[in-house]
Amino acid sequence: MDRRDPRNYRQYTNSNQRSQYPSRMNKKDRSKMIVSLTFILVVICAFLFMLYASGNSSPASTGNIPENTDPTAPETTLNTNSQIPASTEPSTPTAKVTKVIIDPGHGGFDVGTEGSGNYKNEDDLNLAISLKLGNELQAMGITPIFTRSDENAVGNTKELDMANRVAAINSSGAVLEVSIHMNSFATDSSVKGPEVYYYEGNANSSESMTIASILQTRLNSVSGGKRSYKHGDFMVIRDVNIPAVLVECGFLSNSSEEQQLNSEEYQTQLARAIAEGIIQYLS
Ligand SMILES: [Zn+2]
Repeated sequence: MDRRDPRNYRQYTNSNQRSQYPSRMNKKDRSKMIVSLTFILVVICAFLFMLYASGNSSPASTGNIPENTDPTAPETTLNTNSQIPASTEPSTPTAKVTKVIIDPGHGGFDVGTEGSGNYKNEDDLNLAISLKLGNELQAMGITPIFTRSDENAVGNTKELDMANRVAAINSSGAVLEVSIHMNSFATDSSVKGPEVYYYEGNANSSESMTIASILQTRLNSVSGGKRSYKHGDFMVIRDVNIPAVLVECGFLSNSSEEQQLNSEEYQTQLARAIAEGIIQYLS
């Protein structure tokens, strides 16, 4: 509104006092009121903003409080939570995992039956076939455990070595044990072929015999051998709390079989036959 506009002036002058007064006051007030209103608005906005900010910060700090107060608790909870699935997952499979304990006979100071010529001694052949058996089982979804997985014995003396093996087998949680050995029959070098032993007279004899029967059939099939499974009084299959067999993979006293037993390919064939027999028994 322009005061210099005559219409406007006239309008003001023509208006009564009551209306003139407030209109004059309005003009003055307007700027004041605008300033005041702006100020009030700013104050209100500031106040609202502070309310909003404090409203946000308190939940935030409330949210932080548990985070900060609970770092132990939430973290533990988080860890527990993340571990629960993690450990539940492993532990569920662990619970479902089928373990087989493999016992490579002899080792270290105890070479077992000595090999002839440039061939390996029994302890090394036992380990070689045992490790291959472990690989075969692993490929079939079974977790292999070993009483020994290197050339060393399990104890400094034969007695300690045997006792440690039995203890390892009994605490393994495995469903069965396979002990791997090489045979020898010095008085008749023509004797050959794998032989599977089980112990007759402990709690698991029946199961052990079943495994022995299965393995014998499969090993005969691979080797062309004609031997039978039989009872054997060996500590590692006698004093154990799970079904157990001892596999004599062949005779080192038979030169052709000794040669075979030193071949990686034949070792793998034997290992696979044993692994497949174990799968057959377990299924
Ligand atoms: Zn042996």
